[in-house]
This record gives sequence, C-alpha cells and structure tokens, in this order.
Amino acid sequence: MSIDRFDLVKESFEKKAVPAERPLEKTSDYFGELVFDRAKMHKYLDTKTLDALLDCIDNGSPLDRKTADCVAEGMKKWAMDHHVTHVTHWFQPLTEGTAEKHDSLIDYDGKGGVIETFDGKSLAQQEPDASSFPNGGIRATFEARGYTAWDPTSPVFIMDDTLCIPTVFIAYTGEALDYKTPLKKALKAVSEAALPICQLFDPEVRKVHSYLGWEQEFFLVDESLYAARPDLMITGRTLMGHNSSKNQQLDDHYFGAIPSRVAEFMRDLEIAAHRLGIPLKTRHNEAAPNQFELAPIFGETNLANDQNQLLMNIMNMIARRHGFVVLFHEKPFEGVNGSGKHNNWSLGTDTGTMLMAPGKDAKGNLQFITFFVNVLAAVQKHNALLKASIASSTNAHRLGGNEAPPAIVSAFLGKTMTDVLRKLLELPSDTPIEISDKTGKRLGLVEIPEIFVDNTDRNRTSPFAFTGNRFEFRAVGSSANCAGAMTTLNAAVAEQLMDFKEQLDKELAAGKPLNVAIMDTLKPIIASVIDVVCFDGNGYSEEWFEEAKRRGLDVETSVPEMIKVFQRPESVEMFKKTKVYTEKELAARNEVKWDMYTKKVQIESRVMVRMAINHIVPAAYEYKTRLLKDVALSKEVFGDTSTCSYEIRLIKEISSYIEDIAAKAEAMKEARKRANKITDEYRKAVAYHEIAEALNDIRKPIDKLEERIDNKTWPLPKYRELLFIS
Ligand code: ADP
Ligand code: MG
Repeated sequence: MSIDRFDLVKESFEKKAVPAERPLEKTSDYFGELVFDRAKMHKYLDTKTLDALLDCIDNGSPLDRKTADCVAEGMKKWAMDHHVTHVTHWFQPLTEGTAEKHDSLIDYDGKGGVIETFDGKSLAQQEPDASSFPNGGIRATFEARGYTAWDPTSPVFIMDDTLCIPTVFIAYTGEALDYKTPLKKALKAVSEAALPICQLFDPEVRKVHSYLGWEQEFFLVDESLYAARPDLMITGRTLMGHNSSKNQQLDDHYFGAIPSRVAEFMRDLEIAAHRLGIPLKTRHNEAAPNQFELAPIFGETNLANDQNQLLMNIMNMIARRHGFVVLFHEKPFEGVNGSGKHNNWSLGTDTGTMLMAPGKDAKGNLQFITFFVNVLAAVQKHNALLKASIASSTNAHRLGGNEAPPAIVSAFLGKTMTDVLRKLLELPSDTPIEISDKTGKRLGLVEIPEIFVDNTDRNRTSPFAFTGNRFEFRAVGSSANCAGAMTTLNAAVAEQLMDFKEQLDKELAAGKPLNVAIMDTLKPIIASVIDVVCFDGNGYSEEWFEEAKRRGLDVETSVPEMIKVFQRPESVEMFKKTKVYTEKELAARNEVKWDMYTKKVQIESRVMVRMAINHIVPAAYEYKTRLLKDVALSKEVFGDTSTCSYEIRLIKEISSYIEDIAAKAEAMKEARKRANKITDEYRKAVAYHEIAEALNDIRKPIDKLEERIDNKTWPLPKYRELLFIS
C-alpha cells in the first residue's frame, strides 16, 4: 500500500498546536535546577570538599580520591532528590553529536538487596566501548582502549532519569578521541598567551577567558511529511525538489510572527533549556520559511559549547512532542538560505575587561587594539586552516554558494576600525587612541566613537566579522560541534599572541616606553593585514574570488583538499607550539574527517540512486502511460493525433528525462564502485568529492520531471509543503 501524499499534507495541515508545559514559577525560579551548579555544591557538599572542588574548577588543582568520593556522594544525594536512577559519562566523539553509556546506580548491599552507589572513581573515569567510535587508526595501531574522564569545569546535569557527567574521551596512549580535549587545550593556550600581555596593562589580572555565544539556526518540518522523504530522513537534506513558487523572495519570514505550533515548541524548548542552565535569550524566524534561530547569553567557551551540544540533543526530543523534526543540516533545501551557527567569540579578563571591545581610555584602547590586531594576524596566517576547521560535506553546500559566507576566510572590520588602523600606521607610535564623546567633539587624532556605528553594519557576506565587542565567525555550520572552529581559532590566536609577546619584549628591552613598544610591534602587523585579510566588500562577488587569490588567501572549494591544510607544516607547528594537537593526532583526525566525508557522500549517492529509480522513474512512467493512452484514444476517435501535440511533446520530454536519470544513476553506481576500491582515505574522499558534484546532475532532470508530471502522481512531499506547513 502506498502512502498518499495528500493524506499526509492534510493531516499535517490540521495538526493543532500542543500547548507548552508552562511552569507556574518565573524563569529565575527554575533556571539551572537540573544542573549541579555552585548553589547546589554549597548545599550538598561539606566546606572542605566544596573548597577543594572550587579550587579544582577555578585553578585546575587536582582532586584527590577521597575528595572525589565526597563530591560523588553529594552529587548522588542531589540526583536522588530528582529521582535519578542512572549515571552516564557524556562525551563528544568525532562522529558529531554526543555519546553516552548509562549505568544504573544500583549495587548489591551485601544483605540480599541493592543500594544506590556512586563513588569518586565512577565520577572521574569510565571505559566506554570505544571501538565503535572513529579514531583514525590511533586505537588500532597503538592501544585498543579509550576512556572518558570527568571535566570538572563543565557542571554535571540531569537528563530524564540520568545523571550526566561531561567528560573528555581519550585513548590510553593519551591521544584525544573527541572534540572537548583539544578545545580545552586551546583555551588553556590562549589564556596563558594572553595573560602576560594583559598584565602589562593591569597587574591584577590572573586569568583570561575565551567566550562563545553561538547562534543556532535550524529548520523545522512536519514529522509526517519528513517521514515521506527518504532523503531527509537518511541524509538530513532534500536531494531533489523543485523550488516552491514562493520561497523567500518576499523576505516575509524574517522576524515575522512565529506560527503558534512553532511557538509552543519554542516555549517548551526554552523551559527545558533553562532548567538545564542553558541561558537562551533570543528566538526568532530566519530568512527562509520554516527556518529559525536561537541564541543564548554568551559564556565561557567550553561550557557554552557543551550547552550547544546539549541543546541540540533536546531539540529533537521536544520537537517530536509537537509533531516536528529539527533539521540541523546546513542546506536542507536548494534555493533557500542554508543554516549556520555563528560563533560570536571574544576574550576577557577575570577583572572584567572585555579585550575585543574599546576601553574606557587611551590605555584601554591600546589594549583593545593589541588584541584586535593580533586576532587579525592569526586569522590571516591561518585563513586556510580556519576554513578547514569548518569544512564538512554538509557545510560545503552552504559555503561558496550564493549566500553567506564565501569559501574564503577574510575579516570584516567596518569603516571605523579600518580608519583607526590606517591612521595608526601613519601617526607617531605614542599617539593616544581616544574615545570620542557623545557630542562628537574631537579629542584626539585617533578616535573610537563611544557607540560603534558599525555595530549595526551587517556585512553578511563576511565569514569573520568584527561586530563592536566581538568577532563573529559565521562560517561555522549549523550541524557542527563549535569546538572544531573554536579549537583552531583559539589556538591560532594563542600562537600569534606568543609571537607578539616575544617581539614586544625585544622592543621593551630596547628601553622604549610600553605604549611606544606596543605600537612599534603592532605597526608592521597592521601593515601586513590591512590589505590582505581585511576585506569589507561583497564576499559573494566574482571579483572577490580573483582578488582574494591575488592577495594570497585560500580559495579552495573542495572539502577533501581543505582538510589537508591541518597537516601543512605551519599548522602542525602552530598546534605543537600551543600543545593542542600532536602531529599523530592531526594525522588521525584527518583520516576520520576524510572517512566521514566519504561515508556521507556515499550515503547520499545511494539514497539518490534509489529514490531516482524507485520513486521518480516509476511515477514518470505512470504519468507517461496515461498520456500514451490518451494519445492512443485520440487516434481511435479522430483517426489521427493532431489534437495531441502537447501530450506528445510531454511524452518525449518525460522519456528523455527518464533516459538521462537512468544513465546518470548507472554512471554514479560505477563511480562508487571505483571509489570504494581506493584504500587511501584522502584519495577516496577526493573520488567521492566528484560523486558529490554529480549528485546535482541527477537532480536536474528529476526537478524537471517534477515540473512536468501531474501533481497527483508525484510521490514525494514538495518544497511548498515541506517549507510552508507549520
Ligand atoms: P545577531 O543576530 O545580531 O548577530 P544575536 O543576539 O542573535 O545577534 O546573537 C549574538 C550572540 O553573540 C549572542 O549569543 C550573544 O550572547 C553573543 N555575544 C554578545 N557579546 C559577546 C561577546 N563579547 N563575546 C562573545 N559572544 C558575545
Ligand atoms: Mg550574529
């Protein structure tokens, strides 16, 4: 029995909004109630244990076994107050997404019954069955086992009946097998590299933090329609589908009212997120129909990333309650915008200074400019690597297409900051950078307005934009783990800050005053970046591609090639210097990336061929047969086919599209067979890159058929149905 598309559409249309479970309290009453945060620590731990744990969280001091036991005991008490029965280490393997292995809390009590137990050892370390996670040969070559270890800087939380412990995942030989481990190393590196520079401005500074505020974009589709699209279900995107007559030309979805079914979902999601301590702040529609965005209040990068992963976990669970499926894919629909995950990033000191924002006075501004310029230098030096850090088979559909951002990493500064940098180059090194006051009265030669005009300047075509108090890395994909991008960015900045400090020390040793020494060190850097990585123009234009190439920026568009950049000497050197990745880890992770790329394209290609042959071609035959019968009937009645010229043309067109599809599907199968024989992961990924390009060639005749075949016979929910029902 076949499913009638119209029944599905009707059913989807008639779905009513399911009211969200509105708690009676205000948000602040339940915010973080499922997180073992500082307030819970105070309540459930004795003073000695609490002090030791806080020292471990804030200063990285080790916890001894006895203290860990006491922490575990406190957590257990708290968890059991919330009816928790299980515990899991929660980690982020290289598959994307998160993994868990649940253990019940029970153990024999020695008296014939069971009791709930949880000790420091179970808190600190677990050994999941690591063999099913990708490792790029690390475990096969060295040591088969991997283990998870507690990350005390990210608080333990409760999901349903389970106590979840955020952990790193590493091989017994020490190599990272996850996203969190290198991220933590990169955060440490940037913090340590920035600290001595900050202390030149303020000796009170003890620690520098990296901050992340992500903006999660996603699509919602009705779950019944989703279930009738094998491509969406299996690959997360539509591999075929003709544009809807109306898509986003009218821009009427952006900031429009959120439909009630969606609004109830968002409300439920927000409540669940707030209970888990995820500080969701904004929700709005995005440019495409049925596309939305959520953003939290920014926070420390490691925690913010865990919260993003956690949110992605709960989004689909909650969406199902409202009859939706969440699409995190970067490009689920052709012809409408894709989804990204802007990573708003900055650095700040423990004394409250935001380092990517202008200061209160000339000194503060000099500190800001110092960090600002060094970030640009890092982005310039590692522009290809930063692009590699966000490269994936799914994000490839979004980058380089005619939408933000292009597959070239440049930095948008805005007019104010560009002017400031150009002036600094010309003026003597001891010129103070003033803040211009509200009246606009000129105070000095170089001024930063108190309120940035460029704050609202939305250059959406830039993949890395300065937005007044932070940089926005916009190239990150919506389905990605932010840690990939954040590890590379923080590590690259760390390396640059180290180099800068080394140079600065030489200037200081020459007896120059601090401000002059800094500016003398910065000037050559400014000169080297201002006309290379800095670009405020239209990133979509063809001229930019040529211009970027001329400037020496990386313009590669093939993902397997981009990935290679991780193993270039300057990348290896940078990651070694910052102690983020060893060469071995880089090689292993690249194997995983190429393998993932291959597998994803392989799956898409299989789904494409099967849908073409099992869904599309039979529907085309069905319609064609009807037309043929019509022609035959005409001939019988009128003695000729003169009244059937349209039908005959249509029959011929349909036949030729069918031929085209069948030939291309056959060729794709053959290409896959050839690619599958390649054993080298890189070369295999390169072969699959060609297959990825060919997917579009099969799509074209299919979309042409969709235009021609009668609506009733078309077997798949169409774009207008997928995109407009909510
Ligand atoms: P827009 O869509 O205008 O870019 P949003 O409000 O949607 O802005 O998202 C901005 C994100 O940037 C939020 O997550 C916010 O918390 C974050 N953010 C703001 N200031 C900083 C900062 N200094 N460092 C890091 N993230 C920040
Ligand atoms: Mg933004």
